[in-house]
Amino acid sequence: MANRVEHEIIGAIAGGTVAALNNDAKDQYAVNFAAGAFLGKVAARLPDLLEPAIHPNHRGFFHSWLFLSVLGAGMVKLWEWEPEATNQKVLKWALLVTGAAYASHLLRDSITPKSLPIV
Ligand SMILES: [Zn+2]
Repeated sequence: MANRVEHEIIGAIAGGTVAALNNDAKDQYAVNFAAGAFLGKVAARLPDLLEPAIHPNHRGFFHSWLFLSVLGAGMVKLWEWEPEATNQKVLKWALLVTGAAYASHLLRDSITPKSLPIV
């Protein structure tokens, strides 16, 4: 079973990468990566905050393949969104980073022996 620190490291990498790719300020890649890595580190804990790992079968809906699929579809729609206002651009950035970190948690859990439930 992946531990919290491992989830945070993978979430930071996922969040930082998505933040750098979703970068309007073309000269701010490093700042964007760092901010995304920080948010990704925190957001990668969300699945285990929703469904704490207090017993071996803690993985429910928020750890499921169905949830991961819905999250992925939502992130594709979000990626295609082209907001004009600054606050909307910030919202898009934050949601993409959070979604990537959340997905990284589920993908890491999926390669454990118990994997993820379908629903
Ligand atoms: Zn988990």
